[in-house]
Amino acid sequence: MAEMLKTSDPTPPQPIHIPFETTYSGLPKRFYAHCPPAPFPRPEMVRFNAPLADALRIERAEADNAALAAAFSGQRPPEGAAWLAMAYAGHQFGHLVPALGDGRAVLMGEVIDRSGQRRDIQLKGAGRTPFSRHADGRAPLGPVLREYVVSEAMYALGVPTSRALAAVTTGEPVLRETAQPGAVLTRVASSHLRVGTFEYFAVRDDQAAVQQLADYAITRHDPDARDADNPYLELLRRVSRRQAELIADWMALGFIHGVMNTDNTTLSGETIDYGPCAFMDHYHPGTVYSFVDQMGRYAYGNQPGIGQWNLARFAEALLRLLGNDSNEAIAAAREILEAYTEHHEAAWLERMRAKLGLATAMEEDRALVDHLLAILARNRVDFTGFFRRLADAAETTTVDSDIGALFQDPDDWQRWSGRWRERLDLESADSGTRAAAMRWTNPAVIPRTHAIEQAIRAAEDEGDFAPFHALVEAVSHPFEAPESTEAPWARPPRPEERVPNTFCGT
Ligand code: AMP
Ligand code: MG
Repeated sequence: MAEMLKTSDPTPPQPIHIPFETTYSGLPKRFYAHCPPAPFPRPEMVRFNAPLADALRIERAEADNAALAAAFSGQRPPEGAAWLAMAYAGHQFGHLVPALGDGRAVLMGEVIDRSGQRRDIQLKGAGRTPFSRHADGRAPLGPVLREYVVSEAMYALGVPTSRALAAVTTGEPVLRETAQPGAVLTRVASSHLRVGTFEYFAVRDDQAAVQQLADYAITRHDPDARDADNPYLELLRRVSRRQAELIADWMALGFIHGVMNTDNTTLSGETIDYGPCAFMDHYHPGTVYSFVDQMGRYAYGNQPGIGQWNLARFAEALLRLLGNDSNEAIAAAREILEAYTEHHEAAWLERMRAKLGLATAMEEDRALVDHLLAILARNRVDFTGFFRRLADAAETTTVDSDIGALFQDPDDWQRWSGRWRERLDLESADSGTRAAAMRWTNPAVIPRTHAIEQAIRAAEDEGDFAPFHALVEAVSHPFEAPESTEAPWARPPRPEERVPNTFCGT
């Protein structure tokens, strides 16, 4: 009752304080549109990320769940909220779309977190904006829960990512193929600057804006790049490196983003926009989950190459800042894009070595990794499950027949493991230390697609959020042995649980 009174009282003091220091609103008006959130009938908190709120210095001593739900659905926002939807363009599935922009997201504001890092706080699904085009600016509950779980899992796995601060149901149905419960996700990111933000101004030949945006990006993400001979070239180099590393992280975890459009490619090097993403179950480089990706453009194995393609679009948008004449600029950009591939491959191999328990680097390691991936693909072996078991195999050969049973042809495993053990003999660490290190790099728990699906079904169909909360808790400790190996997040799907396709759900 007290909770209800609190939301219906017309003039209560706002119990939540966020120390906003928003800088994006200082950019020219054509960079964004002001846009307050839509009214919603009955906001209710699904989950609030209190440790993250503390890290962001959000004060909420007096706030109950109703007040938090009202704030993080935009109904009773903390003082100083900026409410702006950012303009951006983007290449979607290879095709330029000159005007996209935040059609269902609004920036509440920026804060400086406890570690001194600037962060955007953004509401996703809070209503229409001038960039919504024909769409409704709303988000159904399912995709909000998926983004919450997967982004928090990525964070716990050590992958640069946007994070989830809150998920709130709105009390308003959202019409898709059927009516679904509406929800708002509060996401937090180092920034929402994308390759597509640059493309927006480049396609309009608004060179002043491109430069202003690049200066803003340098101030925000790479302040020391200002000391370089050409700070814009240095920005391209830094962004390329971050993408090279990020995609190496994805590959090492079997993560498929699903929509690697340039509007989803950040300057910060964080993963954003968790739509039809998935962690692969059995290994195959051609794996695609997204229903809309019929051509497999964003298949697991294509991600490194697509990363480079997206960076080439970034270089094009920046081109006139990259050199004194276009030949010089193109040559400089090309060099950086080539270095991306080298950097990515080195970063990937480093991660694969760690997955195999190799602390030193040797010439033959690449061949060992390639051999493994070939037999994992041929035998349709569960990617995450295999590497987790490999830590056991680093300690004892008694698990070998169990691991062999994961393969259709156990001889493949016998041959490869013989080679792997010969290589381990060249390492100095003892087997216990090695296995422990492997368990810190090869997760036991990931947000498996079937586990997410089960959590969403329970929430949508029965209003039961317990499986969602259990999943978030489990993926927040991905390297710890799970309480039950039967839990859906700790094992591959059973045949009847398999989810063949994922959907954007926008
Ligand atoms: P995404 O697939 O989430 O990266 O979104 C691509 C573009 O579509 C962005 O400009 C979004 O803002 C826009 N968009 C996606 N869903 C909606 C929606 N429900 N309402 C308005 N705009 C949307
Ligand atoms: Mg997007």
